[in-house]
Amino acid sequence: MIRTGTELRIMFSPGRVRLVQEEAVVPGLRVLVTGATGLLGRAVCREFQNNGWLVTGTGYRRARPRLLRCDLTDEDAIKGLLQECQPDVIVHCAAERRPDVVERHTEAAVNLNVHATSTLAKEAVLDRHHHITTCLCAALCGSFFLYISSDYVFDGRNPPYGEDDSPNPLNVYGRSKLEGERETMRHCPGAVVLRVPVLFGEVESVMESAVTSLWLKVQEVTESCTLDHCQQRFPTDARDVAAVCRKLSERARQDPSIRGIFHFSAKEQMTKYEMAVAIAQAFKLPSNHLIPLTEQPAVAAPRPINSQLNCSRLELLNLSVEPRPFTSAVIDCLWPFTPDKRWRQTVFH
Ligand code: NAP
Repeated sequence: MIRTGTELRIMFSPGRVRLVQEEAVVPGLRVLVTGATGLLGRAVCREFQNNGWLVTGTGYRRARPRLLRCDLTDEDAIKGLLQECQPDVIVHCAAERRPDVVERHTEAAVNLNVHATSTLAKEAVLDRHHHITTCLCAALCGSFFLYISSDYVFDGRNPPYGEDDSPNPLNVYGRSKLEGERETMRHCPGAVVLRVPVLFGEVESVMESAVTSLWLKVQEVTESCTLDHCQQRFPTDARDVAAVCRKLSERARQDPSIRGIFHFSAKEQMTKYEMAVAIAQAFKLPSNHLIPLTEQPAVAAPRPINSQLNCSRLELLNLSVEPRPFTSAVIDCLWPFTPDKRWRQTVFH
């Protein structure tokens, strides 16, 4: 796809140089997506690609052909990456997002969630200066930095949470994401922080998301299975988050007031028990073996009881999307794991 925009051109004629502004067709903008091998990064790459952007995705352990392998905890690697790509937009999805892993391997997680974010934010600004000086055009060139954060920056005691409410993370993961937000805004004041709740989507294995992993519990019909029925969640399809990322990026490039913190979340409130029952019903499977657990489990990393996000800032700016209904979205994600592929027809008709 070709994008139309206003382009500043430098015209050389004997004895003088002049700047002219003209309506021109410019090639697609460039986006760099970190964590492109992950659940959200894959959806973000697809969303931007489908809308005419030139996409460079980076991964680490799962990096494959067509994706760049880059260890974001290596500062020089980040510098080289940005020099090579010179992106218009950076969507920073890479993170260690499993709270119990973060609790056990804190140093490695902080290196990725905080220090790599800090380096990327600094380099995004440098990259922007590079563009500005070389292109003489701040409006059209420059890396807009979009950092993906989490509802776990809140303690969950007083929902719903607006963008200006005070964060108070309960676990190390939440603290690391909050630190990442602060590093982002410190080095790159024009950046956007997008907080999202628990995600699901097209998965390579059902264990890739806390939502799709419930599929295993649903299928264990011969054994009773207890599931949390305390913590209120708002399971959100990664494709919807990806669409919001694109809308934010496109708007922010034209409107510098699009900066700071935004929230996006689906609207259906469910515990894990309720999600599992909904999955069972969606696939017409029994659910009597699923037992609601109404006491908070003892886990390494405590989780907020209800960190519902108020998303009105995005909505008022017309930057939101209508979240997909949970049942149809979850069928969409889980049908490849059913022995009976007729679910595919159910979804796409
Ligand atoms: P994910 O599926 O676990 O993917 C993590 C990504 O980070 C992978 O692409 C991984 O690459 C990459 N990565 C790991 N170590 C790296 C390193 N040293 N250098 C470079 N890349 C590295 O995560 P996700 O679920 O897509 O999460 C995306 C964002 O959303 C994160 O910022 C997360 O905090 C936030 N978020 C997620 C959820 C959720 O429920 N998933 C909820 C709220 C917020 P390889 O796999 O190739 O190693």
